[in-house]
Amino acid sequence: MLVRQIGIDLGTVNVLVFAHGKGIVLCEPSVVAISANDSRIVAVGKEAYQMMGRTPETIEVVRPMRQGVIADYVVTEAMLRYFISRVCGRFRLLRPEVMISVPVGVTSVESRAVRDAAIQAGGKAAYLIPEPLAAALGVGLPIHTPTGNMIVNIGGGVSEAAVIAVNGIVVSSSVRIGGTKTDEAIAAYVRRKYNLLVGDQTAEDIKIQIGSALPLEEELKLDVRGLDQVTGLPKTITITSGEVTEAIGEPLAAIAATVKAVLEKTPPELASDIIDRGMVMAGGGSLLRNIDRFLTRETGVPCHVAEDPLACVALGAGKALEQYDVLKRSLPAL
Ligand code: ADP
Ligand code: MG
Repeated sequence: MLVRQIGIDLGTVNVLVFAHGKGIVLCEPSVVAISANDSRIVAVGKEAYQMMGRTPETIEVVRPMRQGVIADYVVTEAMLRYFISRVCGRFRLLRPEVMISVPVGVTSVESRAVRDAAIQAGGKAAYLIPEPLAAALGVGLPIHTPTGNMIVNIGGGVSEAAVIAVNGIVVSSSVRIGGTKTDEAIAAYVRRKYNLLVGDQTAEDIKIQIGSALPLEEELKLDVRGLDQVTGLPKTITITSGEVTEAIGEPLAAIAATVKAVLEKTPPELASDIIDRGMVMAGGGSLLRNIDRFLTRETGVPCHVAEDPLACVALGAGKALEQYDVLKRSLPAL
């Protein structure tokens, strides 16, 4: 079957592609390895990710997206071209229509860059959809009704919250803080408390294996290896989930503040819907243990994590293309 329509979640950490009739057909880290001598692309996605922090000087491994927006246009376009041709084949005649998600609160210059990159990378036409709207569609919320639905999307570089009704975003807010900031907070904590230097991937690993937004009843422990800052030699320490909770307190508070800011701006009729229905969480950051309970406690509104939080934005972008005629009235103009 030919792939003619795709939805793309162009995230800071991961890119996912949904193809009409097929489901999620690609999920890869947004990482590119480049040869320093001639700027040639050496690897993209998973293959490039495995090289992170392990390459000789002649190869540079980069994330071309930063905090939800394009930081390096040329590399983003090359990455998109590689992913699109993996999904759709290389034949220019069969270029797909692309629906691609952008965080709320980005500038028109930033979103235009995403659309241009998608066209340059092989899209026949490219449309943009705000991430919370895509997430809500992906989750299957009844967004076309006048009932208010709330989405909280915690990605790697950005977290956003939005209230949606009648196919559009009524209020929203975003903060350039997400999973990556929590990793950095863990690395800084370990450095301060144990004089231990750990890499980004180790910090993320600590978060995924034992991290929790609220203290756990039964503490988890993890042995962590890094470099002793004083002796410069490898060292192993043991860290507990309680320490991780403490380490990530600040970025989590900033995310909670963003969610509260949206609730405060929500018109009363819709607020009462949200209190009844709760809010739905999407994005990789919502996989952190107890983040739902944490946000419920902070806001007083029930929170539920979506069934497949990593995939719902791509899924919703794909669905949006199928209903484009109805949705286009509420999509932001370019
Ligand atoms: P983006 O849309 O910015 O690419 P994603 O929604 O793909 O981001 O989420 C990536 C983030 O989710 C990363 O910061 C990653 O560490 C985090 N993440 C993934 N799995 C987990 C988990 N089990 N627990 C906590 N965080 C997680
Ligand atoms: Mg995302």
